[in-house]
Amino acid sequence: GFKCGIVGLPNVGKSTLFNALTETAAAQAANYPFCTIEPNVGEVAVPDPRLEKLAAIAKSGQIIPTRLTFVDIAGLVRGASKGEGLGNQFLANIREVDAIAHVVRCFEDSDITHVEGKIAPLADIETIETELMLSDLDSLEKRVDNLAKKAKGGDKDAKEQHDLVTRALVLLRDGKPARLLERKPEEERAFGMLGLLTSKPVLYVCNVEEGSAKDGNSFSQAVFARAKEEGAVAVVISAKIESEIATLSREERADFLETLGLEEAGLDRLIRAGYQLLDLITYFTVGPKEARAWTIHRGTKAPAAAGVIHTDFEKGFIRAETIAYADYVALGGEAGAREGGKLRLEGKEYVVADGDVMHFRFNN
Ligand code: GDP
Repeated sequence: GFKCGIVGLPNVGKSTLFNALTETAAAQAANYPFCTIEPNVGEVAVPDPRLEKLAAIAKSGQIIPTRLTFVDIAGLVRGASKGEGLGNQFLANIREVDAIAHVVRCFEDSDITHVEGKIAPLADIETIETELMLSDLDSLEKRVDNLAKKAKGGDKDAKEQHDLVTRALVLLRDGKPARLLERKPEEERAFGMLGLLTSKPVLYVCNVEEGSAKDGNSFSQAVFARAKEEGAVAVVISAKIESEIATLSREERADFLETLGLEEAGLDRLIRAGYQLLDLITYFTVGPKEARAWTIHRGTKAPAAAGVIHTDFEKGFIRAETIAYADYVALGGEAGAREGGKLRLEGKEYVVADGDVMHFRFNN
């Protein structure tokens, strides 16, 4: 599955947010199976109204949403790349995630100490980013000589890597994250293998006081401006409100949100933003037993999409019976779509579209 790491300086609201995420998952457990894998790892359902609609049409016995994993990565402080705080442990945890949700303190509260002494979201972002860049610099500098040697000896992979590493070093020494490295599509794989912390996509989570949950405040505006410059994504959230919402039932939730003037829970927005950040899409499998959502990268072809369900589906892939979501709904389900000529037989080259209802045919 896809993993999103929650990072940020101490006292910015990471744990509050993480707990709200997992409590929400727990509160919805009746409808949505969930699990907390470890104290700092939780899986949450990706809210998707389309799934419920499909289940209603097919009279499915069970609804199984797709999930995102969140990891609460505590312990990042100034100097982490030099071993301060949890230092290296922290950095190792980040290496394993697909994306980073960077929580930034955008609320004032004199009772809660700010580690850097004042509320300054942009400076906080720089502090964290600097630690990550220093760590990347360190790891590349350790590797570059060896790669140069191998490249000279005629190792093609090493040459490609050395080339990438050299360019990444220039960027990092200039104080820029590796994700900004210009690279060709064919270099993408080697780039990913470098395992750089600053190559991960970042989502800024502006934790604001309760009164600013709807429109944000001047702090969050500054973060949004930065995100826009970087082509990153940002969301406004009040971790406090989220932790209150987390324990409410679905109906109570809707009422509570309405009194606050909010359209949806911040967590739902956060999850959706994480999905968008990772460029993920959803396809569905629908039947009387269950209606289920599956996550894939945009651009995935049918066999690999089938492989998410089971490796046998990919290995023995024959074809995919496919109905677009809108057709499935408009024609009242599979039988209607078939009669209406909207059930397509797609082959190995078919690129799965968001919302497709799929049925895979395969050889054992
Ligand atoms: P972490 O160190 O980043 O995990 O931060 P915590 O989630 O433990 O939060 C640190 C403190 O800030 C706790 O006392 C929280 O109750 C408080 N806190 C978190 N979010 C907010 C918020 O939006 N507003 C206010 N006033 N306090 C908050």
